[in-house]
Amino acid sequence: MEHIRSIEELARWKSEGREKKLGFVPTMGALHEGHLSLVRLSQSKCDRTLVSIYVNPTQFNKAEDLEKYPNTLEEDLRALDAQGCDAVFLPDAAMLYPDGLEARSFDFEGLDRYMEGEGRPGHFEGMATVVTRFFDLIKPDCAIFGEKDYQQLSIIKQVVAKERWPVEIVPAAISREPDGLAMSSRNMRLTAYEREDAAQIFSRLQSAISKLNSQESTPETFETACIKALNAVPTINVEYVRCCDALTLQPLDQFDASRSSRVFAAVQCGKVRLIDNLPLF
Ligand code: AMP
Repeated sequence: MEHIRSIEELARWKSEGREKKLGFVPTMGALHEGHLSLVRLSQSKCDRTLVSIYVNPTQFNKAEDLEKYPNTLEEDLRALDAQGCDAVFLPDAAMLYPDGLEARSFDFEGLDRYMEGEGRPGHFEGMATVVTRFFDLIKPDCAIFGEKDYQQLSIIKQVVAKERWPVEIVPAAISREPDGLAMSSRNMRLTAYEREDAAQIFSRLQSAISKLNSQESTPETFETACIKALNAVPTINVEYVRCCDALTLQPLDQFDASRSSRVFAAVQCGKVRLIDNLPLF
């Protein structure tokens, strides 16, 4: 696997396989099976796969979260190599932000209004700034994003359509641990008790969905029931549970089984913030 550390190395690597279809997987490292599933999806669709590892400062609204972000570079490189990834791009801030660490401004047309957009101001601008910079440098044919960060995926699709980036955005299903917990780089920060409790995020949401009767429940009563069930888990504190339209990401007024919709949740599990989302209809 090629290690690319400069724009010149990237240009050389790109020119060697100009005619090959290029898949791109942006990550912040601390890789797990969920990231590797994105690599495999890229490999199934493209001739070459490039993974970037870069912890993007402009998408962190708390300096503490940025400082605490896990770094497991040696293991990450081994895992990507073992997966048959063609190249890893390891840029620094000067390459991605030649004019200084500033996020661009975007109009996400309301996609950023709720959920992660409410509690993490500036997060999506920072994310979209770095992703579009990557698109500009790498010019991939496909870019793979996980449904684990469903709002991020929706926003990237909107930016690509609006700014006419010639890249296909490919969604990847959420990879879960055997007990249902969505894989995340943050899971490694959970204590043994918290790790056990964290599995309840999936199982309690899943159980609420299985009992959902769209005629009798409203999104509000459903969200209240989910919040109660999750807050009953000792180490869990709910930040939000929201039922939204899967395309517009606007909160639902009522359930409509003919409209694709999802439930989104963010909780504190001990000191670790975890997110998940599941389809409703
Ligand atoms: P991150 O390194 O957390 O920025 O994630 C990089 C990419 O991996 C994003 O597109 C995430 O949505 C995706 N990802 C992270 N965890 C999972 C998971 N459990 N299942 C599927 N995709 C994931």
